[in-house]
Amino acid sequence: MSQAVHALEIPAASIVVPEITVIIPVYNEEAILPALFSRLYAVMDKLECSYECLFIDDGSTDRSAALLREQFTSRSAHTRVILLNGNFGQHAAILAGFDYMRGRRAITLDADLQNPPEEIGKLLGKMDEGFDYVGTIRIQRQDHWWRRVASGCINKLRESTTNIRMTDQGCMLRAYDYAIVQAIKQTQEINTFIPALAYLYARNPTEVKVAHSERQAGESKYSLYKLMRINFDLLTGFSLAPLQVFSTVGMVIAMLSGLLVVILVLRRLIVGPEVEGVFTLFGVMFFLIGIVLFGIGILGEYVGRIYQQVQNRPRYIVQATLENRSQEEEMSRLPGLLFLPIIMLAYVACLYCWPTMSRSRW
Ligand code: UDP
Ligand code: MG
Repeated sequence: MSQAVHALEIPAASIVVPEITVIIPVYNEEAILPALFSRLYAVMDKLECSYECLFIDDGSTDRSAALLREQFTSRSAHTRVILLNGNFGQHAAILAGFDYMRGRRAITLDADLQNPPEEIGKLLGKMDEGFDYVGTIRIQRQDHWWRRVASGCINKLRESTTNIRMTDQGCMLRAYDYAIVQAIKQTQEINTFIPALAYLYARNPTEVKVAHSERQAGESKYSLYKLMRINFDLLTGFSLAPLQVFSTVGMVIAMLSGLLVVILVLRRLIVGPEVEGVFTLFGVMFFLIGIVLFGIGILGEYVGRIYQQVQNRPRYIVQATLENRSQEEEMSRLPGLLFLPIIMLAYVACLYCWPTMSRSRW
């Protein structure tokens, strides 16, 4: 049923509709790209279905863009490249991929070969079973221990504060039906977390276990700070729980301090003036100030995102695209080309006839 919807929604200009679009964000991955090309295309050629590999260069400053250009030249029938104007982040790059894809299904894949391309067939098999969104669970994740621990904590936090149910939120090897891609494209959030958004829109999601490798070359593009930012995107984008926790904690603390004031007044009346416990008082005060600052920070995370949303700046800017135009697109340019000789002929005719016409009139 969803197939019929897709046929209607795919733009008329791209009649050559591949079955699958593999979307790969690339940011300074020159060391890994040759290995990625040889493994990815080998896998896709074996799958016996039409496909395109859509690379989005996220403002790389190394030779990544040049390597992508070479790959486009050698495999232009199966390759498209979008060069972004700067570094907009992995999720913005994937959104650009969604906007430009021509396939009926999208596979998102990291460029660093941590997600083996050989697993793509497994995800497509699940989609053939009728699932519209296939997430992945990394078997034996090969990352630094601190990344694994942090991910475990964030996964638990997300489970308890949102209604998004994903076993392994960090793995970007995923498959999306075009209906979900359409829904994501219509969502105009500036800071978003695509796997969670897809889960929200999926009618029938599932997960499969996939292998995971160490980064084959280069280093992770995510510092601890960047990881924190992206996880704030996830929590603030899909839950109000952090704000609600703070209003609840604030209420409880206000009630307890009211009780404390009553007790202190009574002690003052019964016991008389007391000066002990000044340092305890400082301790309690600093603790409370810490909580207040943390609360203001959380509030700021939401307000900042509202501000960015109101600014409504583009999520990414495309500098150039490398792609073979479809026959339809070429045809749509033809009328203009056909008119050119006619206009030139008319011009020459005018030049020739004008002196004759002028003489005959005067
Ligand atoms: N990436 C990107 N823009 C960025 C950061 C990363 O396009 O600003 C790409 C990167 O080239 C890779 C993928 O996103 O293809 C995942 O990045 P990375 O492997 O560094 O993340 P990690 O595996 O450490 O979470
Ligand atoms: Mg990686």
